[in-house]
Amino acid sequence: MEQDPGLNKMSFRQQIPKSDEIRQLIHERYPELFITQDSGVCVITGRFPVRADEIVVDHYFVEICVLKGFPFEAPLVREIGGRIHRHVDRHVFLCGFLCLFLPLERWKHLPETATILTYLDGPLNDYLFSQTYFEEYGCWPFGERGHGKAGYREYLAEVLGTDDPNVAIRFLECLKGRDPKGHWLCFCGSEKKMRNCHLDKVIALRGKVTAEEIGSAIDILTKD
Ligand SMILES: [Zn+2]
Repeated sequence: MEQDPGLNKMSFRQQIPKSDEIRQLIHERYPELFITQDSGVCVITGRFPVRADEIVVDHYFVEICVLKGFPFEAPLVREIGGRIHRHVDRHVFLCGFLCLFLPLERWKHLPETATILTYLDGPLNDYLFSQTYFEEYGCWPFGERGHGKAGYREYLAEVLGTDDPNVAIRFLECLKGRDPKGHWLCFCGSEKKMRNCHLDKVIALRGKVTAEEIGSAIDILTKD
């Protein structure tokens, strides 16, 4: 299928700030995090303070790898203090990377305007706060998504109002294909024109999710 050139441009945009800028940005708020930069990848390691209403309530040792595609590519984070059990039920992949959010929802947590600092203060702080809360109470304070395919299906059912996996896949293909026209028949199979059916859902997500995010979602949804 033809790719939207806008999507490709977005995926390859190099937004990673220079390490000096990052250092300056985070030094004051995260004095125990240290930054190194190698081959364009920025690695931030150290003791991360978890805040609730601006009060530090806990600490975790972390290693954060900020990739060239940031913020369109989410950083890879590991908890290196051996505290969070490496299990999908704790939202940690077996390889040790933390699962902060579903890649298809990355744009909500890491919008175009996101900086390293807003990432640390927002999604990473929220995730680690949730882990502390889970240790204490055995449940998640902000709810949770299912793992793997279940998480994708859940999210797409929320967006589309149907849990039909074939509709979900056709929707994803519509996100990366040609600009949809209102007079096309809707991908959902309603036999209505797009403009009277799901066109608004397509428009709302086009340009927010990258071609890579769409591709891996389709892969996961079509795998047995
Ligand atoms: Zn429809």
